[in-house]
Amino acid sequence: MTLRATLQARLAERRERGLYRQLKTLEAAPSPTAVVDGRSMVAFSSNDYLGLACHPQVIAAQQEGARLGAGATASHLVNGHLQIHEALQEEIAAATGREAALVFSSGYAANMGTICALIGRGDSIVSDKLNHASLIDGARLSRAESLRFAHSDTAALARQLQRARNTGGNTLVAVDGVYSMDGDCAPLAEIAGLCREHDAWLMVDEAHGFGLMGSEKLPVAGSAAAMGLTGEDAPILMGTLGKAAGNAGAFVAGSRELIDYLVQFARTYIYTTGMPPAVASGALAALQVMQREPERQQRLRNNIDRFRRGAAERGLPLGDSTSPIQPLLLGCDQTVMRVAAELATQGFLVGAIRPPTVPVGTARLRITLSAAHDPAQITALLAALDSALEDAGALSTGSSEVRP
Ligand code: PMP
Repeated sequence: MTLRATLQARLAERRERGLYRQLKTLEAAPSPTAVVDGRSMVAFSSNDYLGLACHPQVIAAQQEGARLGAGATASHLVNGHLQIHEALQEEIAAATGREAALVFSSGYAANMGTICALIGRGDSIVSDKLNHASLIDGARLSRAESLRFAHSDTAALARQLQRARNTGGNTLVAVDGVYSMDGDCAPLAEIAGLCREHDAWLMVDEAHGFGLMGSEKLPVAGSAAAMGLTGEDAPILMGTLGKAAGNAGAFVAGSRELIDYLVQFARTYIYTTGMPPAVASGALAALQVMQREPERQQRLRNNIDRFRRGAAERGLPLGDSTSPIQPLLLGCDQTVMRVAAELATQGFLVGAIRPPTVPVGTARLRITLSAAHDPAQITALLAALDSALEDAGALSTGSSEVRP
């Protein structure tokens, strides 16, 4: 069969299964609004949790950074590493309480490159079943023995750690700190304890924790710091700059040796063009603003509480999440699409998440809150959900195959 015919057949199959993804083109997206087809909508679907993507100081810093050149012009090791990258790395290291940090052009690249640099054939990687795709792909590509455990089930993790020990080699445990589609936090204190007991290295993906939570001393460091973990407990910390920092790119933070080692061996760092200086400059400003304006975290927490209270009063199928990611588990793919479409007609953008992004039977609306939302917008979304869910028969059909 020709390439074109093969692709047409595969795309047709995806459409028949109701899993075809439609790209939405936005004309503008100044959070929390998004302009689609000339119409201004309220977005509850972005990861701009602190509203920094449009912060005037961040934008000014990004413009200033562009004076250094539109692009980095080469990979970091060749010719593409500037002082602005160093400054950003130092700020990240300080904000996460680690000795050093390294920026990558995306979180996907950071996870893949770090895992593959640290482990290989003869080693083991133990992953939560709901880990982000980039951790899963890193595990696959590493060629280490890949062991998985049921979501946040520490007894199952302990069993896999025992198996890994019997295999020999080094063991890496990789988990999301905050799960991207469920919004719940990993039980990091127990996980770190098990890693210590079994001599395993813990890698925490803070894509949805960095900037939003932390300890008293490190208020933006992420979920590991919030749960009292130190650099000894969680020696490999990954975070993204495209979510709470409202920008793009990612980092790994840890010991000086870890960072030196990744510069030598992380292929997704070495063989790719450096982060554009404008991005580094804007991300640096975003990190400074998020630390200088802790009220953004507080506003976000208030918005999350407001949404959860309203949803609970209505008996909506909320998940076990206190993070800005609030899934409404509806179960059925078509129902989720219908409800999202109805919400769009009422002026709200929400994520409609279906397999294979989430397990079969657990399709959901992924509603994300931001410090940029006005309380009135949350009240309006809740009212819109009432009618959208009712019109779609989403609750009465008892979409019962919902994962607990
Ligand atoms: N890890 C997690 C948990 C994520 O949610 C994401 C982004 N969806 C990534 C990694 C990848 O980050 P990036 O978008 O910067 O590639």
